[in-house]
Formats: sequence, structure tokens, C-alpha cells
Amino acid sequence: MALILTRDTERFQVPERLPVLPLRDVVLFPYVVMPLLIGRAQSLTAVDAAANDGNVVFLVAQRNAEEQDPAAADLFRVGVVARLMQVVRLPNGTTKILVEGIARARVTRYATTAGALRATIAAEPFTNPTDESDESALGRRVLSLFEEYVSLHRRIPAEVVTLVQATASEERQACAVAAHLAVRHDIRQTLLEAPTLPALLAQLAQLIAAEIEILRLERKIEEDVRGSLFQNQREFYLQEQLKAIHRELGQEDDDFGDLEASIEKKALPEPVKARALRELRKLRRMSPLSPEATVGRNFIDWVLALPWTERTDDALDVVRARTVLDEDHYGLVEVKERILDYIAVLSLVGKLEGPILCLVGPPGVGKTSLGRSVARALGRRFARMSLGGVRDEAEIRGHRRTYIGALPGRVIQAMRRAEVVNPVLLLDEIDKLGQDYRGDPASALLEVLDPEQNRNFSDHYLEVDYDLSHVLFITTANSLATIPEPLRDRMEIIRLPGYLDQEKEAIARQFLIPKQLRQNGLDPALVSFEADTVQAIIHRYTREAGVRDLERRIARVARKLARRRAEATTALNAVAASAPSVSSDAPPRGKRKRASKTDAPVQPAPDANGSSAEPAASNGAAAVMQSVREDDLRWHLGVAPYDPDDASLDDKVGVATGLAYTSVGGETLEVEVAVVRGRGKVQLTGTLGDVMKESASAALSYARSRAPALGIDRDFHRSRDLHVHIPAGATPKDGPSAGIAIATAVISALTGRPVRGDTAMTGEITLRGRVLPIGGLKEKAVAAHRNRIARVIIPHGNAREVEELPEQVRNGVQFHPVRTMDEVMALVLRGVAAAAPEEPVVAGPAVSTAAAVAH
Ligand code: ADP
Repeated sequence: MALILTRDTERFQVPERLPVLPLRDVVLFPYVVMPLLIGRAQSLTAVDAAANDGNVVFLVAQRNAEEQDPAAADLFRVGVVARLMQVVRLPNGTTKILVEGIARARVTRYATTAGALRATIAAEPFTNPTDESDESALGRRVLSLFEEYVSLHRRIPAEVVTLVQATASEERQACAVAAHLAVRHDIRQTLLEAPTLPALLAQLAQLIAAEIEILRLERKIEEDVRGSLFQNQREFYLQEQLKAIHRELGQEDDDFGDLEASIEKKALPEPVKARALRELRKLRRMSPLSPEATVGRNFIDWVLALPWTERTDDALDVVRARTVLDEDHYGLVEVKERILDYIAVLSLVGKLEGPILCLVGPPGVGKTSLGRSVARALGRRFARMSLGGVRDEAEIRGHRRTYIGALPGRVIQAMRRAEVVNPVLLLDEIDKLGQDYRGDPASALLEVLDPEQNRNFSDHYLEVDYDLSHVLFITTANSLATIPEPLRDRMEIIRLPGYLDQEKEAIARQFLIPKQLRQNGLDPALVSFEADTVQAIIHRYTREAGVRDLERRIARVARKLARRRAEATTALNAVAASAPSVSSDAPPRGKRKRASKTDAPVQPAPDANGSSAEPAASNGAAAVMQSVREDDLRWHLGVAPYDPDDASLDDKVGVATGLAYTSVGGETLEVEVAVVRGRGKVQLTGTLGDVMKESASAALSYARSRAPALGIDRDFHRSRDLHVHIPAGATPKDGPSAGIAIATAVISALTGRPVRGDTAMTGEITLRGRVLPIGGLKEKAVAAHRNRIARVIIPHGNAREVEELPEQVRNGVQFHPVRTMDEVMALVLRGVAAAAPEEPVVAGPAVSTAAAVAH
């Protein structure tokens, strides 16, 4: 009996019973040509039998590939009928055959005849040949998946895809794909047993997709591994090269050798040296390019750069110290005395226990330069570190080295700059120290300043203790209010309240002008600032408690003078080159307005139309005197920003002059009040702090309660709105001390009585009109004097402090201590019956009468 098998449109007639060739580890698919090596007796028998019987065999896979001599039960039931295309017997006894799969078939029975296994089979095609077999979407998907699969798989050649795509029918394609998948043979068998073509395609799609995932993963792992291997090899290679280069240059290991020698040579405390050497040993074992090596290297650099034992010898000579302080600073008698006391104790006791000096005052009063001067007086090095805005403890104490880019804290950095263990270290702006979740820098600073603890200061970066006990710390602050209490307790406060005009002029003449001229390459002996000039700079170009702005303005003048001299010299040289006979008294540029007081060539004033004309050059002659006149300032410094006559001292209604004390020193404060029609609203404007707002409310309540007695309509607030304005100026203001000024301005506005313009006042007010003491009297008094105020009303509680005020202030200003608001009004409101004598109370013995005044 013969069986008709179809393959596409081909038909094959094959015997119904075929010799069985069992397959290990492989599964043949129809349409596929495959070479096989066979050696088992059973297989050879089957090949021989087929050779006699139309060259057709039945190829079927064994369930267990290990089985040498499989019986019927060990074989699957679905296999492929195949044509033997070639049989080659090899010399080693094996036989190589080439088979081509014809069609799938199912075994209905296995039987052994004459020692050979035969199978009775029934055809089991994937598709019915009569089916219309169109290309299906699933088929296309399988193809595209297969394409990707091949591209990822290293052992399947890419041409396979082209081959498969060129295959005519979808069934052929599916079989070819299945045959090329590198999967276990039991999985192939499942594919072979797929009931229909769509089922086969579905299985293929699922299988290939899963395989692709696995391949991708393998790829990635492989790439990662390769990447890291490559990196390591690269580093290794580079290091070897580096070593080779060093060897060629004869510097093998020189770097580390140098480091080691430096560590050994430097006078380091024993634990520090041990630590540094340990780091170096670690460093030697590391790849020099690794981040850890950089960290270790930096650490050793820090240890080597820091002073551990290096020190300067102190010059503990009070007489010399006095000379130095006087050389560097004008005035400041009291401050210098206290510094000298401090130095005297130091020279007697020989150590630096005791409080830390804290210089408190507005900017530009010479705090920093005093610190520098103390260092010079003691023959010590000077270093400075700013604490402004430091909120993080790590800024004081450094970051641990495990942080990327870690550095020691500011204290250790300042020590590195100082280069010795006993510098004068100025901690600037201690009042600007912040605090937040990153720790409390103030407590770290306490440790720095505490002589008990600072011997073993621990910086997170250094890890080894650092001895700060030889450092002379000086701190500065603008105001005492914001210095943390525990820090304040450790410090001896020295106040610098700011300078009076005469003092500023003296400082300018004796210090700032010569210094700036020299810095700009000019000879102070050849430049004169006229008296009016300095006064004009102070009054019209600066408004400050210190002299910083003044110095800046003088510097600007000096630069302009320097430039003019340079230009003149160049011009002169040019002229000299072309006309050697030019005389040095060539006519100056500009108009002659008035003769200079000096013999120097005449300086022109700004020209008639008011624009600032350039003052004449000094004709370039090197030794010619230059003088700076008041009129020249417009050219040097531009239009003056302040007009001292601006703040008129006239009496005004609804305007009172208060005194404020801010971080930049004392200032006057104009409180303005306007009464307008309305319904009792009160408006406060200006950049005011909360305390000042409250104080304004208290002043208003007082004014209301006193309305009847003052002849103000009791119901004034029903029909009027009050607008209180306190111009903020450059610095925001707060505090209760403007209370009496606000009350005075309100009452003046409501009564229409003018306030004396020559009088300023400071004092807190209670609801009942009592006047309470205030802070910062010294600075406020200086500010009043600066602003040419003749009388200042102060709280009785501050009367004693008048004695401590600078003499010029006491001589120039009358102080009136008061206890109540009634007394204030009697002193400043025109046209109110005197409740207290008009006679002023001045400083010194007069203060004692103040008590009498108030009663
Ligand atoms: P601060 O630290 O208080 O802000 P600085 O020390 O920076 O002020 O002083 C500003 C400038 O004014 C410095 O050049 C300083 O030398 C100078 N100066 C301040 N006071 C005096 C003084 N009494 N005598 C001489 N120069 C002074």
C-alpha cells in the first residue's frame, strides 16, 4: 500500500510502512534539508532499508536523547517523512546523510521486522492543500520577530532571514523558521506537533518574542560586563603608561617619595604625622586617578599646608603697642586704652585666657583695621574670617571627607592663610551668624572661642585635633542685639559709636588722604585738599557713621588726580619731543575763576553753564603741587547726593524728628503725620518693623486719650483719617524708640501746633504717656550732632549715659531728660503752656538737675 503525501502542490507516493530513523537532539521539519551524522546500528539499518525502498525514511525524535537504543515507546509519535538525498560513508565508520523533509506524519503503529523498526504512518499536514493559504498577519509578525531574533542571535547567519523571506508559502516559511530557532528539541517537537498552521504560527510568535527578551537581557549583561572590563583595562593600561613615562624621566615614585619626605620634615604632632603617613601608604596602593586617591592627596596637602607648630614671637611691649595703635588710628582713645589693658594683661600672664574682645559698631568705624593693628602691635600675623550668613555648622567645622569636594571649615582655612599657630584671628560679623536645621554654628563657635576646649578643636575634615589655644581671637559686630547670648557672655564688648564730623575730617587728613594718594602713586606732599573740600565730601557725598564711604570718595579723587597727572605727563612728553623749547607755564585750560591758595597752577571751576569741566592738569611737571578744591568735586565725584541744608531745621506741623539706631549706626528719622477727612482709619507706611508698628499704635492711643486736655476734638477719629509715614531710608528700622516722636507728630498734626525743628527726640512711650529708656544713645547722639540738631530729648532713664558721650557732642547738643509725654510736648510743641522749664539740661553736673527738671 502506498501513501500519497502532498507538499504544496507536489505529490509524493511513499510506502505506508517506513523504516524509522530515531533522532537525538534534533527535530526535522518538512521542507527542510538537513545533514545528519549517524552511527548507531539501528539508524544504519534504517538507512539501508530505505535505500532499498525508494529512499524514504521516517524521522522521529526520541523522548530522551540519552537513550542509545530506543524502542517504540521511547519515540514521539509525530515525525517527518524524509527523502534520503545523499549517503556518504565516512572512513571512521560513521555515515553522513543528507535528508529533506517531505511531510509531517503521525505514527499509527511501530513494529520491528527483521531487526528493523518500522512505523505505519498517516499523513498529517499542517494545512489542507485545498485551503486558500493567504499570507496572514500572524505570518508577517512571525517573520518580523524572526528577523529581530536573528539579528540578536550570534550563531544564526543573517542570510537565513533572506532565505526564509524568499520561501514561497507561509507553511514553508513557518517550518523554516521553526527549524532555525535555537531552542531545546522538546520545544521543537511541540512546534512540530502544532495542530494547524495558525496554531504553529501563534506558538512561534510567542516563543520568538520570549527568546528575544532573553537575548536582549543577555546582550545587556554582556555589554555591561564588557564595559566594566574595558574601563578597568583602560585604567590599568594608562597607569602602566604613566609609570613607564615616569621611569623614562627618571622620576619613578618620586611624587610619593617627595610627599613622604615633606611629612617627615614638617614639624607635626605625633598623631598627625602618623595619620598623614597612614594616608600616604593607602595612597600608594590606589590607582592615582581614582577619586579616593584625590581625596587622600588633598588631605595630605592640607596637613602639610597647615601650621601645626610654626609660630611668631610676641612683642609684648605696651609702649610699642601704643605707638602702633596711634600710628594706625586717629582718636578712639577709650578703645585703644582697653586694647592696651588687654595687651598688658597678656604680657603679664603670658596666656590668652579671659574674655574675647568684641568690637561693636557701625560699618567703617575701623573695627577690622583695629584688629589688624592689634596684630601689628603684638608682632603677630593677622587673618580674618567672615561669619556673615554662616548657617551651617559645617562651615565652621568642615565636612567629612566622604563628601564630594569636602573641605575643612572656615577656622582651619583661616589658620592655613595665617601660616602660624598664633595669629590674631578676626571673626567678622559675629552678629550675622545664622542657625537652621543643619546644626548650630554658634555652639561650634563657642568651642572655638573657649580656651578650655579649643586646645583640641575637631574639624570634621581633618579628623585629627587641632590646637587653637595660641590664637588671639577678636570678634566684630554691627549690633549686640543679635549675638547669641552664650557667645556674648564670653566677650568683652568695646563700642565704637561712629565719628563726629571733626573726627572724620581729622581721619581723612591724617590717614585716608595720604593712604589713598600713596596707593594711587601720588606723593601726599604734592597734593593738597583744601579745608572746604574735605568738609564738602563729608557733608555732601557721604552719610554714614564710619568713614568707609569717605575713604571710597577720597580714593576716587585720588584716581582721577593720578590719571590727570599721567595724561599731562604724556602730553608734555609729546610736546617736548616736537618742540623742545616749550615753557612749563603754558596757559592752563578752562577759565580762571579764582586764584588758588597755593602756588600751583590755577585750577578752573566748573564752567558757567554748570556742566562739570575738567580741572586743569598741573601741566605735567612732576614736582608741581596739585590742589583739590571744593568746586572740583563735581568733576571728581559727580553730583552730590546729599544736601546738608535739605533737612531744614524749621518748625513744622505734623513732623517730628526721631532718632534711630540701626546696624549702620545712628540716624535721624522724620516722622510725618497727615490728617485727612475720613472715618477714623489709621494708616502706617514706611518699611517698619513690627515693634515700631506697635509703638506707633501706642502713640496713637495716647494721643486719643489726651485729646480733650490738648484741646483736640474728642471725636476727632470719627471724621478724620490719620496717615503716619516714617521714611525708611536705606536701612529698615525697628524698635520702640520712635514712640515719643510719633506721638508728638500726631498731636502736632491734630492741634495744628508746629514742632520745633531744632529738636530731635528718642524714647519709648506707654499708653499712659510715660517715657521709657532706650538703647544706642551714644550712636543716636552722634547722629544728632552730625545733623546739627541743637536739642535732644531723651528718657530720664538714659540721663546718666550723657556723661559718657564724646565731649564735642556734649558741648554741641543740649540734652533734655524727660519722664512723661507732657514734658516732651512742653519742650517741642510751640504754643503749649510749659509743664517743665524750658532751660536745657546739659551734660556733666547738669544731669543731676535733670531729676529736678522732671518733677
Ligand atoms: P569696619 O571693620 O568697622 O567696617 P574698617 O576697619 O574696614 O571698618 O574701616 C574702614 C576704613 O576706615 C579703613 O581703611 C580704616 O583704616 C579707616 N578708619 C576707620 N577708623 C579710623 C581711624 N580712627 N583712624 C584712621 N583710619 C580709620
